[in-house]
Amino acid sequence: MRRAAHWGLGVLIGLSFAGQATAGGPDLTPDQAAALLASMHPDYTRYIREVRYGDSRARPATLYAGLVRRGGEDPRDPADGPILGRGASNDLIVYTDTFEPWRTVAWRRLVIDHEYFHARHFAKGFNLPTVGFGLPQADTDYYEAMAWGYVLERAGDGAYGELAARERAEAAARYEEHYDGFHRFVMKAQPSAWAHYGRFLPEPGALTGTTPRPAASTRTEETSPAAAPATR
Ligand SMILES: [Zn+2]
Repeated sequence: MRRAAHWGLGVLIGLSFAGQATAGGPDLTPDQAAALLASMHPDYTRYIREVRYGDSRARPATLYAGLVRRGGEDPRDPADGPILGRGASNDLIVYTDTFEPWRTVAWRRLVIDHEYFHARHFAKGFNLPTVGFGLPQADTDYYEAMAWGYVLERAGDGAYGELAARERAEAAARYEEHYDGFHRFVMKAQPSAWAHYGRFLPEPGALTGTTPRPAASTRTEETSPAAAPATR
């Protein structure tokens, strides 16, 4: 899960810890993350080729986990960014401290499912638009809003178990942040395009329970990207 930037926006710090987890942390291994993925999505290997540590085992401050192209080391490095396209499979980078000690089991499922969503979305495994606006922040906001929206909807359906209140709030805040960023971008670039994208991105209140949820999910609709500023 990228907390701030999806790709191309981070600065490579070059941490080189040798497998030190946060003191008292659960010390996540790639095998454990892969087992969690398999337990939720037996088809995950279609979209995620390998789960492994990147260039450090301790996570960077702004990142819990993230996708990279095959062999990539750092999800924040544009040169390592995931490949997008039908049938693409990317690698998932995790860290020993991806799951902080206080996190619930539900949060671990949510984080892993978030990455699964990205990987499958990038591989065009959902009937959801993929985009390339030529503006990294707009792309980031779009993909992150879609992924956070997906996990919020699944969390609301009880797919992960019971999240802590602060975890629910964190997920809602991430969705709202990226929804707002992407909404602002579309409204500035081509307001009519929101008729297209808005179908996939409910207003934050609708996903977090402060306003009624839509009667039917729109997340699996066929898309008609004609109104999109750019798609790929
Ligand atoms: Zn993400």
